[in-house]
Amino acid sequence: MIDPPAFPEKTLSPNTNAAAVAACIFCRIVAGEIPSSKVFEDDHVIAFMDIAAVTDGHFLVIPRKHVETLYDLDAILAGHLLAVTTRLAKAAKKALRCDGMNLYQANEAAGGQEVPHLHLHVIPRYKGDSFGIRYNPTKPPREKLDEKAAKIRGAL
Ligand code: AMP
Ligand code: ZN
Repeated sequence: MIDPPAFPEKTLSPNTNAAAVAACIFCRIVAGEIPSSKVFEDDHVIAFMDIAAVTDGHFLVIPRKHVETLYDLDAILAGHLLAVTTRLAKAAKKALRCDGMNLYQANEAAGGQEVPHLHLHVIPRYKGDSFGIRYNPTKPPREKLDEKAAKIRGAL
């Protein structure tokens, strides 16, 4: 078992956005209204198999609470979500004997998010599998890297 850190009342408080919850497919999985193949559940998170698995054993880890994106996630729930995900990834590695593993998490439409309930994808990888993320690396000069770092730091 993973002992979650003390959860403040704010984290445990019920969802207030009833319309978003009612329309949310993952909230319906949490409520048991639609079927899922569960890997794990505790008071704060659940994990279940992805119905459109991109590799063998692909599953999702989500907070029970309707949190839309990473920007809405508080640090304590974030810590617990990652602790559970780490434990499940280790179990998946052992059980599936995969060659590698990716964590993937999408925010907003431009980030590729389709279901507006925060989720971490755990994607077991196998040599020669078809999963991939498309990108074109660039070579920004150091001054540009420093400038972006300072800009983000300034927003903390
Ligand atoms: P994302 O594009 O990051 O929002 O990913 C959403 C994921 O949810 C996709 O990989 C879908 O296959 C998955 N998904 C959608 N509906 C269900 C469902 N009912 N049960 C399990 N996985 C689902
Ligand atoms: Zn939801």
